[in-house]
Amino acid sequence: MSNTVNLARLYYPVRTLGYGERVGIWVAGCNRECPYCITPDLRDIGSGREVDVEEIMEYIRKYCNNVDGFTISGGEPFLNAAGLKRLVEALSYVSEDIIIYSGYTHKELVGMKDDNVDYVLDNISVLVDGPYIHELNDGKGLRGSSNQVVHVFKYEDRYKDFEHEKRSVQLVVEGDRVMTIGIP
Ligand code: SF4
Repeated sequence: MSNTVNLARLYYPVRTLGYGERVGIWVAGCNRECPYCITPDLRDIGSGREVDVEEIMEYIRKYCNNVDGFTISGGEPFLNAAGLKRLVEALSYVSEDIIIYSGYTHKELVGMKDDNVDYVLDNISVLVDGPYIHELNDGKGLRGSSNQVVHVFKYEDRYKDFEHEKRSVQLVVEGDRVMTIGIP
């Protein structure tokens, strides 16, 4: 069982990827090559660092107050399903509102018949599934393109309009670069 995730970025507060003020967690590594991928720099598995989930939790407890929820994206969060399971398990003690963006469809994930994947699907609030298809980006909702399905498992009141919510982006300065958080 893996206790680590390949962490690329962590930021708080994120206000553009779900309800309230969230901790955004981006993992590195994705085997897909969606044209116009919003995070091409995170496709390289080497762009992250293996970090113990407990180290992430210590950081969150220390620096992130009044967290409304978590949004996990990438890269592909399910590349390391065991680490993701461990992360979801630990985050749930802070908030059960956990949104995951994945390039896999829900059907593909269920078809993996992997206990770690099943645990994650049973314990998150929202899964936004499927690869990004640029031609299907209709400019609507907190998903990149209209093929992506928003599966709401918890907090249905919060997320009933997820597919139509107005998009916005946060610009965050990190060292000498500007990071865009949200769906443009
Ligand atoms: S699945 Fe996501 S991270 Fe991977 S290439 Fe597609 S858009 Fe980029």
